[in-house]
Amino acid sequence: MKKQIALVVGHEPGGGAEGERAYNLIVQKSLKEMLEAEGFDVFAYVHELKSYGARQAAMAAAVNKAQPQNLICVELHYNDVDAEPANGHQFHYNACRGLAVAFASEWQKTFPSSRARQDRGTLHTPTGDGAGFLRKSPGLAVLVEPFFHSNKIEWMFFRNKQKEVAEAYGRAIIQFTKKL
Ligand SMILES: [Zn+2]
Repeated sequence: MKKQIALVVGHEPGGGAEGERAYNLIVQKSLKEMLEAEGFDVFAYVHELKSYGARQAAMAAAVNKAQPQNLICVELHYNDVDAEPANGHQFHYNACRGLAVAFASEWQKTFPSSRARQDRGTLHTPTGDGAGFLRKSPGLAVLVEPFFHSNKIEWMFFRNKQKEVAEAYGRAIIQFTKKL
């Protein structure tokens, strides 16, 4: 049986950082194609609801329906803060640190100049922002914050790299699922 992976674009229409949803729709498409070519069953999902709790519940129901054996759920984001100096990558997890480590390690290999934020680019997130997604996901879950849109240097570097970004995530998923 094909391994089931769900790719979720963060935020409802109009939500998130400037350009974030549009950027990640491209990443989602590219990553879906890559993983399908590797033999995965890929479910692409976009949020529609404004209420955070309701939209994560809707996501979980949709993933369960499409993929009863869902293995991994990824929610696609990028970071944004008021203070421009913030930079670097971080992969949030709750139950499965190994998956976040796979993402952080593949990311660092692909983009050596990217700075790992605390914990070598992984962050245990049992509560607070993003925790609802991580808790509700039917499969092992990771929420990606690969760079800061608010950091001009990072944004100039990553703004047209949706394909390279998707490929880094794809290699992380392929590596990780080989060990399962
Ligand atoms: Zn976001």
